[in-house]
Amino acid sequence: MVEEPEIVKLLRQSEKLETLFSKPSISGAQNYIEQSNNDPSENIIEEKSILKNNYEQTLCEDGNIYKKIVENLIEGILIIDFNGKILYANSAIAKIFKFKDVETNISKNVLNYIDSKYLTVFIKDQLLKDKGEVRFSNTYEIKTSNGTKIWIEGLETKIKFKGENANVVFIRDVTERRKTWEELVKLKEKYQVLVETSLDGIIIIDELGRLSYVNPSFEKMCKKKKENILSTLFRDIITKKSVYLYQQVYIDSRKNNKKIENIELELVTGNNFTVPIEINVAPINQNGKFFGLLCTIRDITERKKIEEDIKKSERLKTEFMNIAAHELKSPVTPIKGYLDLIISDKETNKRIKKWAEISQRNLQRLLRLVDEILDVSRLDSDTMRFDMEKISLNKILNEIVEDFRLDVEAKKLDFIIKISNNLPFIYGDKFRLSQVFKNLIGNAMKFTDNGSITVEAKKLDKNAMITIKDTGIGISKDETNKIFTKFYQSYTGHDRKNEGTGLGLFISKEIIDKHNGKIWAESENEKGSEFHVKLPIL
Ligand code: ADP
Repeated sequence: MVEEPEIVKLLRQSEKLETLFSKPSISGAQNYIEQSNNDPSENIIEEKSILKNNYEQTLCEDGNIYKKIVENLIEGILIIDFNGKILYANSAIAKIFKFKDVETNISKNVLNYIDSKYLTVFIKDQLLKDKGEVRFSNTYEIKTSNGTKIWIEGLETKIKFKGENANVVFIRDVTERRKTWEELVKLKEKYQVLVETSLDGIIIIDELGRLSYVNPSFEKMCKKKKENILSTLFRDIITKKSVYLYQQVYIDSRKNNKKIENIELELVTGNNFTVPIEINVAPINQNGKFFGLLCTIRDITERKKIEEDIKKSERLKTEFMNIAAHELKSPVTPIKGYLDLIISDKETNKRIKKWAEISQRNLQRLLRLVDEILDVSRLDSDTMRFDMEKISLNKILNEIVEDFRLDVEAKKLDFIIKISNNLPFIYGDKFRLSQVFKNLIGNAMKFTDNGSITVEAKKLDKNAMITIKDTGIGISKDETNKIFTKFYQSYTGHDRKNEGTGLGLFISKEIIDKHNGKIWAESENEKGSEFHVKLPIL
């Protein structure tokens, strides 16, 4: 039973009007069907004024307040007899129906305004009611007196009006609401089409883990008809090894009410094949209650195949690099030996000695390149050996600094050393960590023509912090991360011959990662660079 609107309550409070709401009879209702074509035009004016006068008189007796309420209501109030004839209308009706004034339309038949599509329903709803209770009627489309069409919604009850059974209908213009509703329906249909035609699988898993919706793409993907999988557990159509991850995702998404993306699982198809899938899940909640998960699913068989192919070709490339580097290294070793002999032989004349020294420098570069290529191939194939032991950073750093001192001074750069004496021990590979610091100091020298190079090391909380600072050409801010990737050499803007491979920092980062540490750069063009290494202490 719908709650009575305020106006009905107010009207009921008026004892004088109580009779208006007495139990109605439906005697006139059936007559309407036979008589509905009769235009009750006789004595219209007389009847109209008598009815209206009587109605208003009743209101006046009870006080002007009710009249005012009725006349000022935004809701239209229409009293109609069982033939559809208007007996009373308030001024809001004039607004809704676009009447010039209410008076001239009293005694017109309300059916003239109802769109023909809705006439039968309206007659049933409004004129053939056998109960006097208040209830919502349907929404109807009406033609207003200026011809435009609008939607109205009514709430009606039976009353005695002037001793006769009549309907009082409270009318509201719901055109705007109806438009919004129609748009929503269209939108819903649009989404339904999108979901049904989506190439991705779309499913809903309910709060008990059962499939409550699957779209055609999902049926195709898992080669099962929806009638065979709906209401079954999603867990039952994925591989055993996917179940644990799926359950974690389900619980996490439900508990924390969050979307989770790019989860890789394996589907078991109707013909018992395993299909790799990627799934995105979003929880469905309404008024704080969890209803299940909405999941979009993509078949990633092709992507997996490509990834496998790439891995395979990476493996082949690494193997090739490894073999090529070893093959290069073998002939270089005797060449280096002979060059050493030529340089150290007292009988070698000066010019030849100079040529031999140039060859030796270039040979060293070649050897460095070969070593770096070998390191990269070891890192790629995860075969780089780390001999981990308790080591003194202090000792390692001081030794490296001494190795570089002559070269730094030869370049007329200040070499500032701030290595704390009580640096704690760390757990690491001496050779590999030296390689990192040599690369950083070597780079600082390579890219600095004036000023200084600073090597600083200290303990900070549970870490050793090592900083190599220079006053050289610097690196643009957006490249400070990129320089740690394989073969990356930053653009200097200078016409500078960059001797190097772009592998040193990549290798350094991998080595520091293996020590559970961190390496990063802070720099700006022309403002020098700072390279920081953070290593956990023992
Ligand atoms: P390489 O020095 O062999 O080219 P790295 O991986 O060691 O390779 O360094 C990558 C790039 O990072 C260098 O080519 C250079 O552009 C930039 N870079 C590294 N250290 C510095 C530095 N101290 N000052 C300016 N640029 C640097």
